[in-house]
Amino acid sequence: MHTFEFIRPKDPAAAVATAAQAKTAQQGADVRFVAGGTTLIDLMKLNVETPARLIDINRLPLDKIEATPDGGLKIGATARNSDLAHHPTVQRDYAVLSQALLSGATAQLRNMATTAGNLLQRTRCVYFRDTAMPCNKREPGTGCPAITGSNRTLAILGTSEHCIASNPSDMCVAMAALEATIHIQGAKGTRAVPIGDFYLLPGNTPDRETVLEPGDLITHVTLPPPRSGSKQVYLKLRDRASYEFALASAAVVITVAGGNVTRARIALGGVGAKPWRSPESEAALVGQAASDANFRKAAEAALRDAKPQSENRFKIELAKRCITHALKMATTA
Ligand SMILES: Cc1cc2nc3c(=O)[nH]c(=O)nc-3n(C[C@H](O)[C@H](O)[C@H](O)COP(=O)(O)OP(=O)(O)OC[C@H]3O[C@@H](n4cnc5c(N)ncnc54)[C@H](O)[C@@H]3O)c2cc1C
Ligand code: SF4
Repeated sequence: MHTFEFIRPKDPAAAVATAAQAKTAQQGADVRFVAGGTTLIDLMKLNVETPARLIDINRLPLDKIEATPDGGLKIGATARNSDLAHHPTVQRDYAVLSQALLSGATAQLRNMATTAGNLLQRTRCVYFRDTAMPCNKREPGTGCPAITGSNRTLAILGTSEHCIASNPSDMCVAMAALEATIHIQGAKGTRAVPIGDFYLLPGNTPDRETVLEPGDLITHVTLPPPRSGSKQVYLKLRDRASYEFALASAAVVITVAGGNVTRARIALGGVGAKPWRSPESEAALVGQAASDANFRKAAEAALRDAKPQSENRFKIELAKRCITHALKMATTA
């Protein structure tokens, strides 16, 4: 691994000031925050990331999980995935988030991984992680070998001719369905970004993945108050039962009254270039009877614009069945 300077800032403002000296907050950033290190250190060992400076944020006071005055939840950026998954309020009111977190990685990794680090984990595309190969995300303009190569696990929604990488996170799928807001402290002050606006689609610039700018420190994430009577499920389909990323997953938060769906939030994992909320499937469900046939119609709507590659056409039907089954599980639980 290359050499780098290791910095322990005394407070968030000092961390932001140092990070603001970076040329970019995107791929290839010369200054990086490090939290659990389970994404970043891996990528540094592979020389995919070679920051000159690492800012350790683990000692900053950003690890609390607490109620907000409006009845929602505030989750600190360095709250560990395991602490969040097992938090009583999360288990009671945001079960979809707890289930998604516990379906990810391993107990050891979840003990290290943080909320902000999980939001910013990188694609598992094999070409991205191999510096001997071209990759538009890692080195803009070099090409995308995945389009004609190994693409079984990659995305079918939101891709471009320049990148078909899938976002690998489970947590973010649940947060998309829960309509989380990401809070950022930057060189120009603080701002709050809804999760739906936080990630960028690859388009012509797959090296730009989020709206983050140099200096931007994620301080916390908020969730709106839970909807009374809503049912929540996270269903993850993968090649083996543990220690594996999703081929397709679905987070559903649904309310049914008198047999009809009154509200639905549906997000998909494993198939999108970003955590994939599906307003199309939500619109197809609201006002309809909570029936298997209508769940399938919602799933069809979610995958209508899917663009499969040579090895991942199977994901279309897999994702449809995943949504249908998750809705059935939620409404019969
Ligand atoms: C073997 C393995 C299996 C895995 N399986 C799964 C899985 O099944 N499902 C799943 O969802 N995930 C999985 N993961 C990914 C894991 O969830 C992430 O690695 C983890 O969540 C990243 O968190 P971290 O705190 O370790 O991030 P770090 O590695 O510390 O940081 C990741 C990125 O976030 C940035 N960052 C961190 N904190 C902040 C902040 N506060 N503000 C701004 N930027 C910040 C860093 O600069 C870095 O770019 C797996 C990982 C491994 C190694
Ligand atoms: S899919 Fe994206 S990450 Fe993978 S090789 Fe192509 S450009 Fe790189």
